[in-house]
Amino acid sequence: MEEIRNAILAGASGEELGALPLPESYRAAFVLREEATMFEGQASEEKDPRKSLHVGEVALPELAPDEAYVAVMAGAINFNTVWTSIFEPLPTFGFLDRLGKESRWGARHALPYHVVGSDASGVVLRVGSAVRNWKPGDRVVIHCNYVDDQDPTAHDDSMLAANQKIWGFETNFGGLADLTLVKANQLMPKPAHLTWEEAAINALCNSTAYRMLVSPNGARMTQGDRVLVWGATGGLGSYAVQHVLNGGGIPIGVVSSPEKAELLRDLGVEAVIDRRAKGYRFWKDEHTQDESEWRRLGKDIRALVGEDPDIVFEHPGRQTMGASVFVCKRGGTVVTCAATSGYMIEYDNRHLWMRLKTIKGSHFANYREAWDANRLICEGKVLPPLSAVYPLEQVGEAAYQVHHNLHEGKIGVLCLAPEEGLGVEDPELRAKVGEDRITLFRR
Ligand code: NDP
Repeated sequence: MEEIRNAILAGASGEELGALPLPESYRAAFVLREEATMFEGQASEEKDPRKSLHVGEVALPELAPDEAYVAVMAGAINFNTVWTSIFEPLPTFGFLDRLGKESRWGARHALPYHVVGSDASGVVLRVGSAVRNWKPGDRVVIHCNYVDDQDPTAHDDSMLAANQKIWGFETNFGGLADLTLVKANQLMPKPAHLTWEEAAINALCNSTAYRMLVSPNGARMTQGDRVLVWGATGGLGSYAVQHVLNGGGIPIGVVSSPEKAELLRDLGVEAVIDRRAKGYRFWKDEHTQDESEWRRLGKDIRALVGEDPDIVFEHPGRQTMGASVFVCKRGGTVVTCAATSGYMIEYDNRHLWMRLKTIKGSHFANYREAWDANRLICEGKVLPPLSAVYPLEQVGEAAYQVHHNLHEGKIGVLCLAPEEGLGVEDPELRAKVGEDRITLFRR
């Protein structure tokens, strides 16, 4: 990989890169099948990604006709890598084994190790014989929707495809590595004004937030909408509030510290709630919720923006869902894509039906949505919330930070990029967007 890295850094042409020999193995971050029970009996918080995530050499898989090899310059930590590394709610080897039964190409994925990572920026090295739109040398970012385009169920909205998967979570050969194997329809242009690490962090969370709020498949946010965003400086939330602001809506951002509240204000969010300072206790005990606490949150929202939220952007799950359904406006939508604090949800159904609210499930994004969300990054209209960068060797520590909510925005991981700050091709656009805006989360 060293030769490939040096060629990329020296600005080699696509032809030159395409002619370089590929390595038989490459450096990657992975969990091991034989360790899938290592945390049995421990509480979630005690399960430590630093123990389960390994960095070492793995064999280069064969390239299918519709795929590309990408030299990964940088990757990112997503919460799904945390789930994989603590083997919750299930070890991801089950996903790989299921994919392994699908076809000869699927069989490549069922291995004793799982290379993780569902975001990356890099350079295309080779494409399969059926790939038309990409070639060696193209600078790309990768979205994680892994779709079988020969399946008819994938041809309305590909997120409805019967065997839709998330690359690097439900497939092998993910982006926390020096090289990755992806379908060509996961590739998108790299934002030219961003560094490798700034470009690497966006596709997963930005596309998810875009579908949840902006796409016709989501909550169809429109001008003037009040949108309650949980975890508003986190991975999803930091994109969600930007989409709300761009679309003429009014975000109410919930965070858990004065520092995060200040960051949110710098991002342009005026209505901010520090949930820790407010001390909400939506659950009296493990089994009983407290409606008076939901009501207190509702009052706080009205005091800030005058009305109940048209949309609630949900992902904490069990801890907040009862409150989210309660505070949502009559006729409004709670759009949810996750359940970090527990997936067995309880809410008072009377508040849902009597006030004609909708709960809408959402999951990642189809290629069109991911592409449109990436276009906003490319044009500088959505900023990359990069707060910290780790080398690949410290991927376990990076995942630990996200697992314990010690981070803001997104954490980037350097793979082939030898240092931060490389990869900017359009300094004029960078200057126009503003260095201080692009690096807002790095203070
Ligand atoms: P992050 O950890 O980056 O951010 C989540 C934020 O939520 C935290 O920073 C925290 O903010 C807030 N939060 C956490 N727990 C609670 C709680 N109990 N009550 C209120 N707020 C809470 O994670 P992501 O935003 O990247 O992901 C969030 C979830 O969404 C994960 O479970 C992830 O797996 C899932 N996800 C699902 C996707 C899909 O396509 N279905 C795509 C992307 C993510 P603060 O402490 O400041 O309030």
